[in-house]
Amino acid sequence: MAKYALVTGGSRGIGRAVAVRLAKAGYNILINYVSRIGEAEKTMALIREAGQDGEILQFDVASAEETRKALEGWQARNPEEYIEVIVNNAGIRRDNIMALMPEDDWNRVLQVSLGGFFNVTQPLLAPMMRRKYGRIISMASVSGLMGMQGQANYSAAKAGIISASKALAKEIARKNITVNCVAPGFIKTDMTEGLDEATLCRNIPAGRFGTVEEVADVVAFLASPEASYVTGNVISINGGLYT
Ligand code: NAP
Repeated sequence: MAKYALVTGGSRGIGRAVAVRLAKAGYNILINYVSRIGEAEKTMALIREAGQDGEILQFDVASAEETRKALEGWQARNPEEYIEVIVNNAGIRRDNIMALMPEDDWNRVLQVSLGGFFNVTQPLLAPMMRRKYGRIISMASVSGLMGMQGQANYSAAKAGIISASKALAKEIARKNITVNCVAPGFIKTDMTEGLDEATLCRNIPAGRFGTVEEVADVVAFLASPEASYVTGNVISINGGLYT
């Protein structure tokens, strides 16, 4: 029987690297994306190069209905299978100081990141609990741990994911399902494009931004059977920026 991992926002950046890394660990990958099909297809090609298969699933994680339909559709086409690894990676940022933040930007960031965590994870819990094995890993951020100016919406969403993961970890630990977060610092992707890297690096003890592969390796560890006694935790990947 094939093993399946779902990576939300798997079309680009950290999600793509995680998808490829999990393929190398022997998983077939369900790549979710919202708008860039061409990028999702590139990830699929890399997964095939790694010797695995998968499927591209287009849905907006902020929509509970779209998400449920896509996941139910996959399950109906694959009645014998289940998704044993969930990587909640899809996320956006819409930065502004709170005094100037439009309500829409507050709501959308929470709907995608925190809403997405619920919309994707909740429908997959029952099959995972029936099989008594699973790994749920969600992309938090240093911003969710320390709070960052200009990111009240994003910090709130990421802090929410951390607390929700801790609560869920306690609910399902006895089912052999672990629930953890990773909290990247500054990682080179489209999301950090345009930031003043030289200035920011002065505050990063490692003196550089991280790579998507450095995040993917930690996610792969948390996704592995070897991480069986790690649950309800957050692992920072930030070059020493914040501990
Ligand atoms: P990215 O390069 O901007 O990629 C974002 C990914 O999320 C894309 O695959 C995008 O799909 C997908 N996505 C966005 N909105 C979505 C939605 N509503 N439904 C489904 N998919 C959606 O971002 P990244 O830097 O790789 O970040 C990935 C995750 O790590 C995010 O949760 C981010 O908050 C977190 N993170 C990043 C950093 C960093 O420094 N880069 C640091 C800390 C945490 P399309 O290609 O279709 O647009």
